[in-house]
Amino acid sequence: MIAAAGSGERLGAGGPKTFVEAHGRSLLAWSLVAFKAAEGIEAIVIAGPPREQGRVFEVAERAGVEATVVPGGDHRSQSVANALEAVRTDLVVVHDAARPLVTAELIEQVVARLDRDPDVAGVIAAAPVTDTIKEASVSRRVLRTPERSRMWAVQTPQAFRTAGLRAAIAEHPDDLGIVTDDAQLVERSGGEILIHQASPDNLKVTTPRDLKIAEMLLAERSGT
Ligand code: C5P
Repeated sequence: MIAAAGSGERLGAGGPKTFVEAHGRSLLAWSLVAFKAAEGIEAIVIAGPPREQGRVFEVAERAGVEATVVPGGDHRSQSVANALEAVRTDLVVVHDAARPLVTAELIEQVVARLDRDPDVAGVIAAAPVTDTIKEASVSRRVLRTPERSRMWAVQTPQAFRTAGLRAAIAEHPDDLGIVTDDAQLVERSGGEILIHQASPDNLKVTTPRDLKIAEMLLAERSGT
């Protein structure tokens, strides 16, 4: 499932981020190509910008992907909840269209790790942080410095048992606008989440600077 319904305001592209081009393809198309190449992916559901469903279909068609398209919600988690209604498989991989550097290999790895262990509720891609992290108050007074070696910068893809993710969303309907990844909801419901170490190159395109870096990395990867 691909969350692609963001407004892209921080990118300043004058339209939804998902259609912004990077090295010859839209951000959404890069993710679709990776999911199409990943073994074991049975179906693809995209939560797209509510007023641009037709355009999402066009991107999928051009990428050679047959996808179900649903309208996204006001918040990312609401978009995920909407898309989840169209998911029919026991396991689901949630991915942000804003991460065009995802690879088929990474998708396969998070699914394989989840599939191996029935006690695990979810497996999430993440990279070790290289900066020291501080927790601060709203007035920016430093409260705490967590031990860096235990800190991870969380990415997508995130693989879950579909029933567990559905239950977690149903259990915390008021938190959908607050949480910044889906694993948080499952954690709050007591589900065990494992980290799968991924490359920091799997970055999220938020600002124009991120887009420049993503273009460079996509060009390097394509050898052009
Ligand atoms: O806003 P942010 O960059 O954190 O969004 C992460 C992902 O969530 C993006 O791929 C974006 O398209 C998606 N999103 C969504 N529905 C929203 C907001 C964001 O699908 N309402």
